[in-house]
Amino acid sequence: MALKVKNELIEGLLAYSRDTHPKEMILLLRGKVENDVEVEEVIIPPSAIHGQRFSVFQPHMIPFDLSMLGVVHSHPSGVLKPSTYDLNHFYGRIMMIVAYPYQSVKDVAIFDKQGEKVPFIVTS
Ligand SMILES: [Zn+2]
Repeated sequence: MALKVKNELIEGLLAYSRDTHPKEMILLLRGKVENDVEVEEVIIPPSAIHGQRFSVFQPHMIPFDLSMLGVVHSHPSGVLKPSTYDLNHFYGRIMMIVAYPYQSVKDVAIFDKQGEKVPFIVTS
């Protein structure tokens, strides 16, 4: 099983993270799960609260949807790994983090529930 993310989605997330900086952004990841898991789009969570150092949303407010893969959020601190708080609030299958300076795919990482890095393929 491979994890795939569209290049334009990554570019969009980098741009959105830059726009939101120094605040943290948070979005939901949607896509499909077939032979591979493919991240296709992001949506704004219904009750996102953007804070200076944290972002909160209410998972129970999200309609049950199999296409919901997880959450992406930015780390203005530049730390490209999940915090303990992140792992305790894991939602879905994968967690994507976009870290400052949000310049390229090198500033993007995806993690599983255990906080282990999951390799992904960038597709066009
Ligand atoms: Zn975080």
